[in-house]
Amino acid sequence: MDRGINTRCLHLEETEGKFDNYGALSYPIYQTATYAHPAVGQSTGYDYSRLQNPTRENLEKIVASLEHGTDAFALSSGMAAISLLFELFKPGDHIVSEADLYGGSIRLYDHVSKKNGYAFTFLNCAKDDVEAAIRSNTKAIYIETPTNPMMNVSDIRKISEIAKRHDLLLIVDNTFLSPYFQNPLDLGADVVIHSGTKFLGGHNDTLAGFIVTNKTEIAEKLRFLIKTTGAGLAPFDSWLLLRGIKTLGLRMEKAQKNAQELAAWLKKQKNVTDVFYPGLPEHPGYEIMKKQARGFGSMITFNVDTKEHALAILQEVRMIKYAESLGGTETLITYPTTQTHADVPEEVRLKNGITPRTLRLSTGIEDVEDLIFELEKVFSKIV
Ligand SMILES: *Cc1c(COP(=O)(O)O)cnc(C)c1O
Repeated sequence: MDRGINTRCLHLEETEGKFDNYGALSYPIYQTATYAHPAVGQSTGYDYSRLQNPTRENLEKIVASLEHGTDAFALSSGMAAISLLFELFKPGDHIVSEADLYGGSIRLYDHVSKKNGYAFTFLNCAKDDVEAAIRSNTKAIYIETPTNPMMNVSDIRKISEIAKRHDLLLIVDNTFLSPYFQNPLDLGADVVIHSGTKFLGGHNDTLAGFIVTNKTEIAEKLRFLIKTTGAGLAPFDSWLLLRGIKTLGLRMEKAQKNAQELAAWLKKQKNVTDVFYPGLPEHPGYEIMKKQARGFGSMITFNVDTKEHALAILQEVRMIKYAESLGGTETLITYPTTQTHADVPEEVRLKNGITPRTLRLSTGIEDVEDLIFELEKVFSKIV
């Protein structure tokens, strides 16, 4: 029987009954760069930590199991993961990509990938015809769902059918829902990306990134690339991720519950003009979310009536932190225009719906009454 996801966050079946590491329940941090060889031509299984380290390997096995993949790769950040993955392409390759992406991914495309000779077509994958954008040199489709920050939801199964028909890789950045709520590989994706900095780490205390796949050929190439380029996650950071993942389910459930209450509260405010939360039945992606995910997550984007009110909210928050990032224990509010999406050209931002009135909230695991109390205070001050 397949174990439940909460169990898989804690236990790795293959090591049970072996009592490695003296039976330590917390996986040891192997803070070593290199490993002694028992004899010429022999290895303990580890040669040098750029290639692999036991702490990182343990984490990779747990993340592979959470995403129903065969292989996972732990990198030093989400962007390191995406950069490594893009080493699979070569000059002249074309990628069809969601337009509303994490701003750092767009910066990578614009300032690194294009220089390397990759071409992109950007679409709203929730609405536009993805198949019509495919060219003879297209190699991959890259999506986020829900998107950062506008919370657009695209149909992973449908897009995976298009990818299969044209022999393309389907890459899904699953950061916003984490493997607790969504498993893109089960829906036909070939590669899953995570910013492990967000929900997987979950405590706003370390950066990390993951690539997960169920294709041996891709895994072999990535194993070679991680050894060659060297952005593998450090032993201590791997341990922080292992520790964070233990409570993934508890945190996701609590943060989602808070988000549902905050989305309902935001809808009632006269200064709030739009609430983008896929757990609201009127959200255009609500029905697709119910088919492909087990929850709606804890990210809410909303518009207020004026830019001045948006800035005043950021100015007035105290317990809720005005900070970049998301998916941690503490509730954060972000201003995409000058923070996460500052390097996205203004016309692209506006086309995607990111306006100077747009705020993004990542709900944490505080008591929801305290979050609402704080927001009531903030909203009463701005009018
Ligand atoms: C934060 C984020 C990234 C980048 O991850 P880092 O760990 O910050 O490098 C990629 N994708 C999404 C959706 C993100 O939110």
